[in-house]
Amino acid sequence: MLTDSSELYLPLTLSWFLGSTIKRGQHMSRAHSKGVSTGPSSPSGPYDAALKAIRKGYQAFNAAESIPPSGIQTLSCTAKLYYTNNNITSTVAGVSNNGVHAEMDALKQFYVGTCHYNDHAFSSVTLQMESGPLPCCIRCAAVCGLLGVFAMPNTHKTPTSMGTAQWQLPDDLAQLLAIKTGENKFLYQQFGSVII
Ligand SMILES: [Zn+2]
Repeated sequence: MLTDSSELYLPLTLSWFLGSTIKRGQHMSRAHSKGVSTGPSSPSGPYDAALKAIRKGYQAFNAAESIPPSGIQTLSCTAKLYYTNNNITSTVAGVSNNGVHAEMDALKQFYVGTCHYNDHAFSSVTLQMESGPLPCCIRCAAVCGLLGVFAMPNTHKTPTSMGTAQWQLPDDLAQLLAIKTGENKFLYQQFGSVII
């Protein structure tokens, strides 16, 4: 079953993706400049900033790109986070639950359960994410990229949100992202509501 579905993935060329990304970005900028007033309370500010951060993190995540089979509505995915410290590699298994994707669950477990909220401990190990059987979605890939997590060789990423749009960032990870990047935590709390 795993082999069958992975054979359906179609590799995307980088130039195609970059081209479509630029076009979408230009279109969205125009759409926003039309209907949204410019003022301190304008909703386009945090929205655009979150979209930009998602794209930046997505590109930083070093997985190969693929697109999943069409018509996916429900996702049953697993993720395994490998962390290597002093040449010893251990793993944390994540499961998807109520909008928290398996990748985010694994990262939260590691940060909270293993690192005990210590961001220095989090950054002191080499982290690698393994996702499957479907590719890592754009939001999870973005968080991985922003947190300096590498992809396992068998892990792909996709520039879509895939299936149901529900996606939640655990608050502990929003806090960690804020610490690691120096940005406001609010930026990352918008990740789930940005339309991709
Ligand atoms: Zn995901």
